[in-house]
Amino acid sequence: MSDNPFQPLAMPGVQKLRPYEPGKPPEALERELGIASALKLASNENPLGPSPEALAAMAEVLPGVARYPDGNGFALKEALAGHHDIDPACITLGNGSNDVLELVARAFLGPGRKAVMARHAFAVYWLATQAAGAEPVITPPNPAQHPMMPLGHDLESMVSHVDGATRVVFIANPNNPTGTWLNGEELKGFIEALPENIVIVVDEAYVEYASLRPGYLEASRWLADHPNLVITRTFSKAYGLAGLRVGYALSSPGVADLLNRVRQPFNVNSVAQAAAVAALRDQEHIRRSVEINDRGMEQLNAGPRGLGLGSRPPPANLLCVHTGRPAAPVCAALERQGVIVRPLEPYGLGEFLRITIGMEKENRRLLQALGEAIQEA
Ligand SMILES: *Cc1c(COP(=O)(O)O)cnc(C)c1O
Repeated sequence: MSDNPFQPLAMPGVQKLRPYEPGKPPEALERELGIASALKLASNENPLGPSPEALAAMAEVLPGVARYPDGNGFALKEALAGHHDIDPACITLGNGSNDVLELVARAFLGPGRKAVMARHAFAVYWLATQAAGAEPVITPPNPAQHPMMPLGHDLESMVSHVDGATRVVFIANPNNPTGTWLNGEELKGFIEALPENIVIVVDEAYVEYASLRPGYLEASRWLADHPNLVITRTFSKAYGLAGLRVGYALSSPGVADLLNRVRQPFNVNSVAQAAAVAALRDQEHIRRSVEINDRGMEQLNAGPRGLGLGSRPPPANLLCVHTGRPAAPVCAALERQGVIVRPLEPYGLGEFLRITIGMEKENRRLLQALGEAIQEA
């Protein structure tokens, strides 16, 4: 819409925005191809689906939807407080963790202020910063030949780009779409190296897949010593509730107070709140989901058709695959076979695509289709 006549009326930050490009819904591809069984491995959803307990909890509260939800999310905050052994005053609920990222931007960013983020970091950091009218400062990633974590966040560079106008630093651990991650020592050093008067957002959307990985540490352990930390979590990935939109932040009570001032009063609906409480109780479902993911990761990497990505798979339910050629035509060829993955051109990674780990049968279909797509493209 470059010829949009209303463009000059928009706020400067909004004029520079381009909308987030979500993964294509399988129904859209089914309509296009006239097929019935598209496979979407493009948005890092849990292929196992939600906990049956969450489904039951939703059914139970459905008759009550004529009423507004609990705007303070009492029951969900209590459940999360127990889960994290933290005061409920440290929790901010969001309509997905995307919403929480927006709240951070709304509360702390605006014209004349900056947010630091690494190149190839999750796209919403840039979007939220830009929409708030602040300046996104994008730092160079680790080089592709980096011995440990190619394309990962270069923490030294991020620290060196912080200046007097910086109010927020965004970092994801592990990161989407690259699957790169930081070990606990690195992350701790980073948090300690940053000034105390800027907000440090650590996005842990994939933490359930990462927390058992040797070397990985959850950032919440540093919250007491670093009240400028905001840790974002979501029910969209391992918890299998992406369609409901629930996420939250852990922070100091002071930061939570500010986030709650800009929050819409009823930002998390009642069905989502009930489902999240039940999903949190069903940790066995998380354990199974992680186990299925570990096996799927192995399946996609091993074997003659495997992707052979080596011994350090990401601690997440995604793979960032170097196609060695432009990835967009590979993705298009995959779509012609009914398989949706994510080309990473919008992330400046034109030769990469991102695959969500699926169930065994889905992974087999993906490998088969990818083999053909690469020959075709
Ligand atoms: C998926 C994802 C999110 C957010 O998802 P919500 O559905 O809004 O909770 C946030 N950060 C990263 C890095 C993600 O991959």
